[in-house]
Amino acid sequence: MNFMEIIDSIETKASKSISRNPGDYLDENELLVCGKCNSRKQCVVEFMGKIRKPFCLCNCETEKLERQGKEIIESEKIREINNMRYLGFHDKSMMNFTFEKDDESNPNLSLTAKKYVENFPKMIESGKGLLLFGNVGSGKTFIASCIANSLIDQGYPCMVTNFSRIINTLSGMYEGKQEYIDNLNKFDLLVIDDLAAERDTEYTNEIILNVIDSRYRSKKPLIVTTNLTAEEIHNQKDIRKQRTYSRLHEMCIPIGVYGNDRREKGKLSDNEYYFDLLKIKTPSKSP
Ligand SMILES: [Zn+2]
Repeated sequence: MNFMEIIDSIETKASKSISRNPGDYLDENELLVCGKCNSRKQCVVEFMGKIRKPFCLCNCETEKLERQGKEIIESEKIREINNMRYLGFHDKSMMNFTFEKDDESNPNLSLTAKKYVENFPKMIESGKGLLLFGNVGSGKTFIASCIANSLIDQGYPCMVTNFSRIINTLSGMYEGKQEYIDNLNKFDLLVIDDLAAERDTEYTNEIILNVIDSRYRSKKPLIVTTNLTAEEIHNQKDIRKQRTYSRLHEMCIPIGVYGNDRREKGKLSDNEYYFDLLKIKTPSKSP
């Protein structure tokens, strides 16, 4: 096959791939025109001294093809995000904790959480997380999961877990324990739910310190929820806990959460910049 024959065969193949629809017509130059969008499905080119009339896509078919391409990319992205969410939540029921489902019974906390998501690029840069402390049932777990879900929607890999699970997993491993802990730092955000709910043993406190310290060295944000009070966080006698909590003070913006729209700025370290950025304010007196 010589060169011109190759060109002819390409042109014939292209011509077959162009659909001819009822309503298509020939214009004054005998070129095929789309009946829907009135743009040409055929053009004129001079190639090596010969006039050719190769077929091409009209405007509406080009748009259709682009739309299909975008839909494929979009559905691929949704699949990826669903995978990310599935991987990221050890407790699958928490995958459903989203801002859309937030009843905003604690509007200030909801606002702060949304502001945290909005400012996440800054939080990644500074490695700043949140320490949500306060009484049971004040919505700390819910709001931490909302943050993770919202960030996953934006394509940030997040891991939401707790120390009971981490310790269980590590207990069943013969080797690769440190690798498992290090892998937690591959996530842009690590959420540890319910710190201090796990069994209080020397072994667990050692693991907790290891995980928190490893996260600290990774300089990536960490969100911790806990039912501990500020006093309990401050006055620890156990040396491992002291070191763990001192790391948390450095890494996390402390927010006291007390349910029924009562919230306090944690007084654990100097975080004025973040209090302002995340709209954390001392609540006004309830009527
Ligand atoms: Zn068309």
